[in-house]
Amino acid sequence: MKLDVEVLRTLSKDDFRVLTAVEMGMRNHEIVPSELVHRIASLKHGGTYKVLKNLLKHKLLHHDSSKYDGFRLTYLGYDFLAIKTMVNRGVFVAVGCQIGVGKESDIFEVAREDGTVLAMKLHRLGRVSFRAVKSKRDYLRHRSSYNWLYLSRLAALKEFAFMKALEEHGFPVPNAVDCNRHCVIMSLVQGYPLVQVKQLENPETVFETIIGLVVRLAEHGLIHCDFNEFNIMIDDDEKITMIDFPQMVSVSHQNAQMYFDRDVECIFKFFRKRFNLTFEYTVDTDCTEVDTDDSGRPCFSLINKDAGFLDKELAASGFTRKDQEDIEKFIEGDIEKNISNGDDDGSEDDVHISDLNEENNKGIESLHLQDQVESTLDGDRPVEVKESKQKS
Ligand code: ADP
Ligand code: MG
Repeated sequence: MKLDVEVLRTLSKDDFRVLTAVEMGMRNHEIVPSELVHRIASLKHGGTYKVLKNLLKHKLLHHDSSKYDGFRLTYLGYDFLAIKTMVNRGVFVAVGCQIGVGKESDIFEVAREDGTVLAMKLHRLGRVSFRAVKSKRDYLRHRSSYNWLYLSRLAALKEFAFMKALEEHGFPVPNAVDCNRHCVIMSLVQGYPLVQVKQLENPETVFETIIGLVVRLAEHGLIHCDFNEFNIMIDDDEKITMIDFPQMVSVSHQNAQMYFDRDVECIFKFFRKRFNLTFEYTVDTDCTEVDTDDSGRPCFSLINKDAGFLDKELAASGFTRKDQEDIEKFIEGDIEKNISNGDDDGSEDDVHISDLNEENNKGIESLHLQDQVESTLDGDRPVEVKESKQKS
């Protein structure tokens, strides 16, 4: 995926107005009828038509006329809306290289006015799997707003809320700076994902620190659910930072033990294979019980299933229990199905891991945007996002 800052710089206030109109329409339409876009944007003298053409040219919108004439945002269009809001808030002033690409996110460097470099994570929940999941398990059928846009926003909100709460409880996580739409801004972690590390000075200490983290999380009532060498960063001093929280669940979750075991197993397996560690390890905590299995390997059991969940902190960040339920439904469907790529329709939203294009590696580019209005529609024109009479 290309994040062409040059295009972003050339977009006008009207471009953002129409982009925002499509976003608003997507609250209750997967494809927003053209007529509704015109009505929400309400540009004078048929100006919307010209703007739509420009947005299509830059792949910020997708045109769909299969059922009726309409538009939806592309990831890029959604990215631009989030980036513009962040820039207007003064969170950062420039966008740099892409530093990570996950199955369901893209990570870029961004810079503050004083030159501090931060990390921007753009969530792409459903990039690979949403269409596949949707076609198999249609638990989303009653709510047209449960689309990738909604899920990506939820994932970002959850990640931001958890990062903040974990930081407040002294966990080694990035500093959560801000969140808008599907975008999370956090401090840039020095170091590398553990998966890239071939040698460690003190593998036992690192291992114990990492297992200690899984256990401490459980004591706080949480399971990471994707705790592995890809989501643990390590620096030259062998200091650990954990990242990537959208899939975390509470220890009271019905599959908690399975998720917990899987996290622990991933770490054991990695250290066994990569650093030839053989383990003698015990933990003494309120929340976990350590025993040995038939082969003498330590096993952990969650015993206190309602350890203090960080409910209050999470709610303070705007992430509700209902949000948690919604996102869990999606993530569980995802795990169950183990990500089949079968439903790929080859549209312009599809991104391949190898797609880290040159364009994104030109160094930090400053963002002098054309206008500095918040990317919501201003109050001087009527805005209506009612169900349209058109079929949808
Ligand atoms: P995903 O959910 O797609 O797996 P991650 O949060 O794990 O996304 O990020 C993907 C990659 O991006 C990481 O493996 C890491 O290399 C890089 N990354 C993510 N967050 C940061 C950060 N705050 N600082 C530096 N690199 C990061
Ligand atoms: Mg990850």
